[in-house]
Amino acid sequence: MNLLEFMSMETENVVARLKSSGLFQTKGLIGGKWIDAYDGKTVEVYNPANGEVIASVACMGDRETKDAISSAYDAFSHWSKLTAADRSSRLYKWYNLLIEHEEELGQLITLEQGKPLKEAIGEVVYGASYIEYFAEEAKRVYGDILPSPMPDRRLFVLKQPVGVVGAITPWNFPLAMITRKAGPALACGCTIVIKPSELTPLTALAVAELALQAGIPPGVLNVVMGDAPKIGKALLESPQVRKLTFTGSTAVGKKLMAGAAETVKKVSLELGGNAPCIVFDDADLEVALEGSLAAKLRNSGQTCICTNRLLVQEGIYDRFINAYSNAVQSLKVGNGFSEGVDQGPLINEAAVEKVESLVHDAISQGAKVVVGGKRHNLGLTFYEPTIISDVKNEMLIARREIFGPVTPVIRFKTEEEAIQIANDTDSGLAAYLFTNNIQRLWRVSEALEYGLVGVNNHVSFSQVAPFGGVKQSGLGREGSKYGLDEYLEIKCICMGNMG
Ligand code: NAP
Repeated sequence: MNLLEFMSMETENVVARLKSSGLFQTKGLIGGKWIDAYDGKTVEVYNPANGEVIASVACMGDRETKDAISSAYDAFSHWSKLTAADRSSRLYKWYNLLIEHEEELGQLITLEQGKPLKEAIGEVVYGASYIEYFAEEAKRVYGDILPSPMPDRRLFVLKQPVGVVGAITPWNFPLAMITRKAGPALACGCTIVIKPSELTPLTALAVAELALQAGIPPGVLNVVMGDAPKIGKALLESPQVRKLTFTGSTAVGKKLMAGAAETVKKVSLELGGNAPCIVFDDADLEVALEGSLAAKLRNSGQTCICTNRLLVQEGIYDRFINAYSNAVQSLKVGNGFSEGVDQGPLINEAAVEKVESLVHDAISQGAKVVVGGKRHNLGLTFYEPTIISDVKNEMLIARREIFGPVTPVIRFKTEEEAIQIANDTDSGLAAYLFTNNIQRLWRVSEALEYGLVGVNNHVSFSQVAPFGGVKQSGLGREGSKYGLDEYLEIKCICMGNMG
């Protein structure tokens, strides 16, 4: 069946353009070759904005994953021995290709993930920046010489790549969550097997094609997708996979962490958040408004660092909520390809049902709808930008990750109360605060139990900043000078008879 016969003009145009650049791949990548699932199984990829099928991609399982691991293992002996400068120059080529194709890649993200095109192109630039940054850092993996406690001994510290990395990524940033892992892994000399979400595999495959075009050798970067539990199990059970890096929900992250114990793998986890955004009476209203809107609404509220609870102090409450409501009401909802759209669809029906049930639960317990509060009249997976007031921190909506365009508002009186509410969660990824009081700014920043704190801004995280959470939001950091350590082992060499 020719899928193109059933596609809208818009999809057809995007797909045709991607095909002409070789970026529309639907098979897995193992050992440098595009491969079908061994049993021929496929799975369909949908456009969340209109439900149409974009492509059928290979639906792989444990056999393909084991072969991908073997390819990565074989490639490691060559890739890890290249000079850092050689690896760096290939990563630079990859970066340049990503930027050269930013528009097509952005269109592909909008097509399979739904975010507005401008945001999607922004993700490509953001994601590519990790490849550029780690192309630079590749040359700075320094060791150490330690003063020996014995006169005839010398102690050297060598940093070496961990080996084969298994990387499992989510659908909400189908490009950046991959480059944030592949950049440092490849820079260090590791090889990688990537498993993207089955909801957004096309972007991952396009990124992998550009890696091949950039001269990343066969087997260094592999992509398998399909049956998540089977692929996950194969990665966990393999003693050849020495590191597992995962971005996704806390529930799946916990399972993977337990599974990694069997082979004692190095693990890093980027998991769910429950971000508080605190607006104090002494905040600059304009700054707080702009920052808190941005912190809530990117990707239609579907990011791990999106505000999940807006805490507003009583003195500024009425003015702030009034301005926030006006801004939310003026948001344009629609297909991410339409001009001027601020908010696209949610990823699928299950996501809309989750948002709906959290809103209903909050209302049933006394919360009030200020704006929105129901599915958008565009239907399908569109939900109205929503504000709910009179929320209590015990309500489900304040305890679960909403992952949608809903702002629950909690009113507070004192700084101590705000800190207590903010920290009353098992999550600890991102938090935001708005205040013009310098002492408060430091006090609250230090008291917040979070890995990332945005002060008077919505935190435009970048490749230079260490990204990651505390508590049940994860382990390890991505990006920054600290990001390389996640892919390195420290070896101590002790030399005797040197006196
Ligand atoms: P998810 O359901 O946990 O899925 C994440 C990845 O894990 C997907 O590739 C998924 O595959 C795979 N997976 C699911 N079950 C698995 C299993 N048993 N074994 C191995 N792999 C398995 O999360 P999501 O819904 O895609 O993403 C949203 C979540 O990611 C949110 O909680 C968000 O906060 C979090 N997130 C965190 C960060 C961060 O940096 N901390 C960044 C972005 C997102 P399939 O999709 O193919 O089933």
